[in-house]
Amino acid sequence: MDLTLPESHEILRRSVREFAEKEIKPVAAELDEKEQFSVELTQKMGELGLFGIFVPEEYGGQGMDYLAYVIAVEEIARVDGSQAATVAAGNSLGLGPIYYFGSEEQKRRYLPELCDGQRLFAFGLTEPNAGSDAGGTKTTATERDGKWVINGSKIFITNASTPISWGSIVQTVTRQRDDGRKEYTTFVVENGTEGFEAREMHQKMMWRASNTSELYLEDCKVDGAAMLGKRGEGFHQMLQTLDSGRLAIAAMGLGCAQGALELALEYTADRKQFGKPISSFQAVAFRLADVATEVEHARAFLYRACWLKDSGKPFGKEAAMAKLYCSEVAQRAADTGVQVMGGYGLMKEYGMERFYRDQKLLEIGEGTSEIQRLVIARHLGCF
Ligand SMILES: Cc1cc2nc3c(=O)[nH]c(=O)nc-3n(C[C@H](O)[C@H](O)[C@H](O)COP(=O)(O)OP(=O)(O)OC[C@H]3O[C@@H](n4cnc5c(N)ncnc54)[C@H](O)[C@@H]3O)c2cc1C
Repeated sequence: MDLTLPESHEILRRSVREFAEKEIKPVAAELDEKEQFSVELTQKMGELGLFGIFVPEEYGGQGMDYLAYVIAVEEIARVDGSQAATVAAGNSLGLGPIYYFGSEEQKRRYLPELCDGQRLFAFGLTEPNAGSDAGGTKTTATERDGKWVINGSKIFITNASTPISWGSIVQTVTRQRDDGRKEYTTFVVENGTEGFEAREMHQKMMWRASNTSELYLEDCKVDGAAMLGKRGEGFHQMLQTLDSGRLAIAAMGLGCAQGALELALEYTADRKQFGKPISSFQAVAFRLADVATEVEHARAFLYRACWLKDSGKPFGKEAAMAKLYCSEVAQRAADTGVQVMGGYGLMKEYGMERFYRDQKLLEIGEGTSEIQRLVIARHLGCF
């Protein structure tokens, strides 16, 4: 059993780390403070090849595996949660469903520019009254005069209303089946389509430089060609998208924990109290040792979950476990980071408080920690 990463993945990690340190780190705090999405950084990340890493080259991607994608997200999150969110949502939720479920025509139309990072797509599943209970979707699509007419709204949708947003993939209910269950179908709705509006949301606690939107669809008409996959496949597509997406959220947790740990180590080696660096006090050192142990554990587990996916094996349970564990490791790492930095940990200028805020979404987005436990328990046959 050889756990060494391939050279290609080590090269990728080094180049993403260098980019994050050089291009993102100097501006991350300011973008966070101003709540500003950066088109420039997004397009630079596109030039670096961070969109479509797992998409074949013939569609404009990098033709690498999911592990490579996860390593890239981890490295961006080590420096900044907001930019990592843009990349993770752009891949897992934006171009991913088009690549996995789209027609050849849709792939050829959308993927090249999405893989270049010149434009973004979003994934609209969550609604004001359908969050954890995604089956509670109320948005409808009705066939009328050869068109599909969509009505409803979505909330908390990442990347939907940036200046380079191209559109959103929207989950709808297309009918009530004979057995009373809803039939779900997804549509690709481009920005600028009549009856469709993506409105930016403000005042987030975390990921403040990432774009979050509400979507409004009022008699929004699209052609049959805008359907993603076949009618009735929406629920299955959503589950598959979330399984894969959870690996990227886990990578954000891992990167956030790694970044918080490094910052805490640097600070505690430098800060002196009672005539000694505070890292030499056992109470501080043991907390850092615990975080470092959890980070290694999280990385090993997440990479194994990616290996399962890349090998074509079932990975749904492991993806939920990785998302649950990595996001909770990030929470403990950021909490420890603030604690060992004392009052300075609470000040924006010192950087730890951004990790502390950014990690919180990881326990909520793409299924809360409670929902991950529910998914895992279901895999275990508990109910
Ligand atoms: C910044 C941000 C970006 C996001 N990006 C996207 C996106 O791009 N696309 C998208 O579709 N969505 C997105 N979301 C939505 C996100 O996935 C939801 O917020 C999440 O699934 C939780 O739904 P909710 O907020 O409605 O909470 P609720 O479902 O109302 O949950 C509230 C609480 O109840 C608990 N709960 C609910 N049901 C159960 C249960 N059965 N058992 C135990 N506990 C339960 C939850 O765990 C939680 O603690 C984003 C959210 C945020 C904040």
